[in-house]
Amino acid sequence: MSKFKKQTIDGNTAAAHVAYAFSDVAAIYPITPSSDMGQYADLWSANGRKNIFGEIVDIVEMQSEAGAAGAVHGSLSAGAFTTTFTASQGLMLMLPNMHKIAGEMLPTVFHVSARSLAAQSLSIFGDHSDVMSARNTGYALVAASNLQEIMDLAIVSHLATLKSKVPFLNFFDGFRNSHEIQKTEIIDYDTIKNLVEEKYIEEFRARAMNPENPRLKVGAQNPDVYFQGRETTNLMYDETPGIIQEYMDKVAKVIGRQYHLFDYVGAKDAEKVIVSMGSSCETIEETVNALNAKGEKLGLIKVRVYRPFSAEALIAAIPETVKKVIVLDRTKEPGSLGEPLYLDVVASLKDKDIKVIGGRYGLSSKEFTPSMVKAIYDKADTHGFTVGINDDVSKRSLDVTESINTLPEGTFSAKFWGLGSDGTVGANKNSIKIIGDNTDMYAQGYFQYDSKKSGGITRSHLRFGKSMIQSEYLVQNANFIACHNQAFIGRYDVIEGIKEDGVFLLNSNWDSNDVFSHFTKDMQKTIIDKKVKVYNIDALKIAEEVGLGGRINTVMQAAFFIISGVLPKAEAIKLIKNAIEKSYKKKGKEIVEMNWKAVDATEAALVEVSIPAELPKVAAESAKLIPDNSDDFTKNVIEPIMREKGDNIPVSDMPYDGYVPTGTAALEKRGVAPAVPHWIADKCIQCNQCTFVCPHAAIRAKLIDPADLKDAPETFNVLDVKGKDADKKFKIQVYVEDCQGCAVCVNECPVGALELSPIQTERDAGENANETFFHALPNDVIGSNRLYSVKGSQFKQPLFEFSGACAGCGETPYIKLTSQLFGDRMIIANATGCSSIYGGTFPTTPYCKNKDGHGPTWANSLFEDNAEYGLGMRLAVDANRKQLKSVTEKLLKKVSGELKEALTWSLENWKDVSDEALANNVKIQSLLEKEDKKDPDVRKAIELKSYFVDKSVWAFGGDGWAYDIGFGGLDHV
Ligand code: SF4
Repeated sequence: MSKFKKQTIDGNTAAAHVAYAFSDVAAIYPITPSSDMGQYADLWSANGRKNIFGEIVDIVEMQSEAGAAGAVHGSLSAGAFTTTFTASQGLMLMLPNMHKIAGEMLPTVFHVSARSLAAQSLSIFGDHSDVMSARNTGYALVAASNLQEIMDLAIVSHLATLKSKVPFLNFFDGFRNSHEIQKTEIIDYDTIKNLVEEKYIEEFRARAMNPENPRLKVGAQNPDVYFQGRETTNLMYDETPGIIQEYMDKVAKVIGRQYHLFDYVGAKDAEKVIVSMGSSCETIEETVNALNAKGEKLGLIKVRVYRPFSAEALIAAIPETVKKVIVLDRTKEPGSLGEPLYLDVVASLKDKDIKVIGGRYGLSSKEFTPSMVKAIYDKADTHGFTVGINDDVSKRSLDVTESINTLPEGTFSAKFWGLGSDGTVGANKNSIKIIGDNTDMYAQGYFQYDSKKSGGITRSHLRFGKSMIQSEYLVQNANFIACHNQAFIGRYDVIEGIKEDGVFLLNSNWDSNDVFSHFTKDMQKTIIDKKVKVYNIDALKIAEEVGLGGRINTVMQAAFFIISGVLPKAEAIKLIKNAIEKSYKKKGKEIVEMNWKAVDATEAALVEVSIPAELPKVAAESAKLIPDNSDDFTKNVIEPIMREKGDNIPVSDMPYDGYVPTGTAALEKRGVAPAVPHWIADKCIQCNQCTFVCPHAAIRAKLIDPADLKDAPETFNVLDVKGKDADKKFKIQVYVEDCQGCAVCVNECPVGALELSPIQTERDAGENANETFFHALPNDVIGSNRLYSVKGSQFKQPLFEFSGACAGCGETPYIKLTSQLFGDRMIIANATGCSSIYGGTFPTTPYCKNKDGHGPTWANSLFEDNAEYGLGMRLAVDANRKQLKSVTEKLLKKVSGELKEALTWSLENWKDVSDEALANNVKIQSLLEKEDKKDPDVRKAIELKSYFVDKSVWAFGGDGWAYDIGFGGLDHV
């Protein structure tokens, strides 16, 4: 029995716990998925937590990761133990200082939740492309495979850096491990302190910059000596693997877990061995154990220390019987002979009679499952393979045809479908803690989110069991599946992977006698064939009755414990109630009691649905998500992703350069708002303030020619326009399926002409048909109104619509307004942040086109460079216009008639961006087509014809701030 307390925590907590212990200072800057580490350290510091030296850690948040690395460098130089936390592009910004820190042999540990680097697109998910880009910095690279290893190996790294003087980068897989929750042994600070050797601390302080012992760190060396300088530390690096092993051994004596530079698991006489790093090792080990139990002879080398790479230790870890080594890299190095780990293994085994091949897996947290591991052992024979995707272009992917289940006997698996912000994820985190902290069971939780800022779907994957859980992949064979929103039925395959005799829990307001008929035929068949028990509960009704409004989390959590049988019911209820008290007591007794009441009301409201022996005649249709006449991109890419089946998209359907068509958020029609605005026409004063403030362009105004109303639906109500535009009608239309129900428009309306109404009521009142009719009516009829006014601008078509920003977002109304005023000429450089996520998450985008096919063109570079990125765009537009102007001047000498006239007008009004200029441009474009295309000046003018009217170049900040870079021909700002 271990002396250490076990606690259910996430991976970032495990790393931060150790980093805080060893540090005097932490210089931080947040970046997903590492932000929590800095936030925990900041919180602990604010709460007065002491490190192992008995002091509170000084936390400083810098302006960027480059700043954080600079501060670490300075703090180390001046003699304070200093750490930082980062990932991805953040690590890239730290690279220059990392080279310096290593060059100066300053001991430190950087903790990195490894994440993809932005390439053809950004990705916040996990792989090793960031840490592999740091492999030449001179840092030691140490990899953990699970949460316990994050804690244990962090201790080893902090101890080893002190003795070796080599700085360390301690990494683990972003999201898969950083955000996973597992029961973990917490190594207390007294134990850690006892492992520290004071003499190395004294040595470090003695090397610090100090005017009482003044020295100068060399700023520049010339060709005569720089090279020699680089070679001074060779022996120190040679010794480092031994030092790391020494501390792995010392730590093992205290914590009872022994690590090596390379750890071998599997058959002693294995012929095939995989070499891998990070969380994949857990999944591979689970698979190896299951397959070897059936007679296979397979092995795995877990790489703990990637730099300095010890070929000797690797060779020692590989059994003599091995004939083939398959190296897995979780990164992509285009154009290389192989990815980094492969190359190191090849170099290490060059004198051995062992075949070595390499392959890629798991980029951007792509699932990596036991079935894939088996396919690698069975089928990987050619170097450069991939697994987990269908590469139908370069044909390098392995076919994974056999599905295997390697979970230890008795492991309980559960999956929960929730709506972003409905409390499902929070409740499941709570459930994991309840089970992990109050029973002797192992517990694991992992949470999947989509990229909508809210109102998207969430899936929680929970496992519990008496055996250790090594399954670093999503729940595939579920004993229990819960669907917390009935709107998911028919849209997603919610019971995919449910086990024989499994349990399905649904939150719906459907009559429990009728629930089965609301399921699709496929669902019904699975439920009957697999003898699934189905329960229905109207959680929203209970939540409303007890005063919790729309927060159904407590009810669904109680329902899970009542019917899943994970814990005895009475014990589970007691533990839930305790957890509620703990979570909500700061919010007051009343909130605690409301939640307790919700728990008490749950059991009586749960209804077991009776399942027919055979398929009934009535079933729900699968929801239609895209029109039948959609283009290939919509059919092959957008629809599968909308159904959460994006993993099935082959390489050939993906754009090679990251471009996607615009105008696609309109396909989503998510219908996520429980209540949407209802227009009370009689009260309306036609001010357009509601549409002006709408963050989602889901409420719009139009001036309508009465002649266009002849085919209007009966419920399509309009108002007479008073004053100058009396020949027109006025209409406010709510797009009910695109509305997020934020009620900003309702609150803004000065006369109470909008009120919230249940979405189903509005559907039943014919608003979907009204919207279709409204949408087809002419846009941009502004009548006598000024375009640059609140009212006039809102008659222009928004070219930014239905974004997945949070309901009520304060940024998007401004973006929408700029798109109404300048959208048809707009080029946007968007910094990474909220606005790049709701603006440009693959495959759908809220930016759209007008009837001429014109609209904003948008791209994202980095978090920190969008002003420069936008400036570059401005420079390109200016350069192209300059060239066009020159060629136009030449053309004027050759052409005559209408074209000459139009070109002359254009040159004389070069900065004009008015409708007149746009019309002149259209005219020029058509007249140029009639000219002799053999003339190089004509051809050049045609090539640059879209630049006769200037572009409007914008830089949008990640958090929505925007500035215009010289739109309309203004000078650069
Ligand atoms: Fe009509 Fe109110 Fe909208 Fe103004 S804010 S247009 S009064 S609904």
